[in-house]
Amino acid sequence: MLTIKYFNHQTKMKTTRWFVALLSLTLSPLLGAQSQPAADLVIRNAKIWTVDKNRPTAQAVAVLADRIVAVGSNDDVKAWQGAQTRVIDAAGKLLLPGFNDSHVHFIDGGLALDSLQLNDATSAAEFTHRIAERAKVTPKGDWITSGDWDETKWTPARLPTKELIDPATPDTPVFASRYDGHMALANSVTLRLAGITAKTPDPPGGVIVRDAQGNPTGALKDAAMDYVFKVAPPLSHERRLKAARRALAHAASLGVTSVQHMNPEYADIAVYNELLERGELTTRIYAAPLITNGADDQVKIGIRHAFGGPFLRIGAIKAYADGSLGSATAYFFEPFSNQPDNHGLLSDEMHPVSLMRDRMMRADAAGLQICTHAIGDQGISIILDLYSEIVKVHGERDRRFRIEHAQHMAAKDFDRFAQLHVIASVQPYHAIDDGRWAEERIGHDRASRTYAFRTFLNHGVRLAFGTDWNVAPLNPMLGVYAAVTRATLDGKNPNGWFPEQKLTVAEAVEAYTLGSAYAEFQENEKGSIAPGKLADMVLLSDDIFAIDPAKIRDVKIVTTIVGGKSVWDASDKKGQ
Ligand SMILES: [Zn+2]
Repeated sequence: MLTIKYFNHQTKMKTTRWFVALLSLTLSPLLGAQSQPAADLVIRNAKIWTVDKNRPTAQAVAVLADRIVAVGSNDDVKAWQGAQTRVIDAAGKLLLPGFNDSHVHFIDGGLALDSLQLNDATSAAEFTHRIAERAKVTPKGDWITSGDWDETKWTPARLPTKELIDPATPDTPVFASRYDGHMALANSVTLRLAGITAKTPDPPGGVIVRDAQGNPTGALKDAAMDYVFKVAPPLSHERRLKAARRALAHAASLGVTSVQHMNPEYADIAVYNELLERGELTTRIYAAPLITNGADDQVKIGIRHAFGGPFLRIGAIKAYADGSLGSATAYFFEPFSNQPDNHGLLSDEMHPVSLMRDRMMRADAAGLQICTHAIGDQGISIILDLYSEIVKVHGERDRRFRIEHAQHMAAKDFDRFAQLHVIASVQPYHAIDDGRWAEERIGHDRASRTYAFRTFLNHGVRLAFGTDWNVAPLNPMLGVYAAVTRATLDGKNPNGWFPEQKLTVAEAVEAYTLGSAYAEFQENEKGSIAPGKLADMVLLSDDIFAIDPAKIRDVKIVTTIVGGKSVWDASDKKGQ
């Protein structure tokens, strides 16, 4: 059954045109063949991997307005070609459905493209140097934020302290974030502004890292970062708009045609809406605000999951169960192998767990979709308990609970995960990044159920792939590469870290397209190349099914098509 949804007038016009075309097609035997409309776009001579079980491969596709109208051989599609039809000769290249990143922080990502970069620093000295250089060009009164530092890449690897940056930043507030977003380093100026001293208690769900005398070192974990967020200046509308535009251009260049923005601020959604009205939104967005400020508002409006139109939807909420592995705040049943007193932390939203339960119950009763960040095995287990309680109280329905990351699974929980139809919204790049050091933190046994993509599939759990950008790069080729090879970034596991968890290219592509579409209730609208679906497609430089998997990470996007329009073309960018 065909359902047509529309969002604004422009889309409605397009959809109507498409519907008329479909109608005339249906009637064409009565009216004569002349009545068939010409396609706006035909792509021919492609090697198409459709992710459509009914027709896995094809050669050509026709697009009318923003929808796919025909898929088949060059001959099958030829009838759609008219005088005005734009024709792309794919010259045998691979055409896939557009990638759908199921977990991004889109505005943060856009901001990071223009910000201080600390992620590839390899020593404390370089960390200090880059912040000092930034301070020189930072206008008085502005803050230095972001950075995405990763101390595991330093020699020696140790947490940074304010002493590293204080001398270069006597008047500039610094709050440099760790790449996982679960820790940040404040300098003395920032600690003073936030009122953090040796006497400040650790908040629930957070840690103020202290030296032997009990003085703050500047490193703040999880909820302790809120002390600073409360005093930091808000992002201006102009900067937010600029960040969104940067992020959209970046996504288009990487073949990412849909994203699911986790914990956006409302101002982010307003910016997307502004860009939508201007016709500038080139990536489809599903936004899931935080449960602590987004659930009750959406409940009041009365909207349900996936409310909106093809380019912008809301109706989901994002919750946090725990912290991260890298910051040693993921919540485990057993302590960290290298920190016998530390099980990790439940997030501040989980203090007490009954509060989280009440919020989730309200959100679910209203029909909102619940997406919960859970990384440690006990954090995941507690969320599965809550999900199962919700089903018991409110009854079965197609609610598509999600667990974001689902990183370290208890052996007993795979079956429960499947029985509750929970979607594992996972980021394969994290596996080849964390795989460098995860085993020394959690030991071999737990590591064997870490980023356990194959085990999830074996249990019948649906996967949705994403990146967590800007925690990891937005490039889907890196995600496919990671899932298929599991070759850690340090080159130490060329045949795969826990290779039994590798996926095939077809499985990885499906998780990154149809799997992610399913995770946002849009599998009938996008995620495969099939008649009736939105015309979101990418043409790749190389055939990832045929090349050496180790080379997948170097594959480039030739053309990105969203709703039948080219939003990025490699040939336009030559010489830039
Ligand atoms: Zn995230």
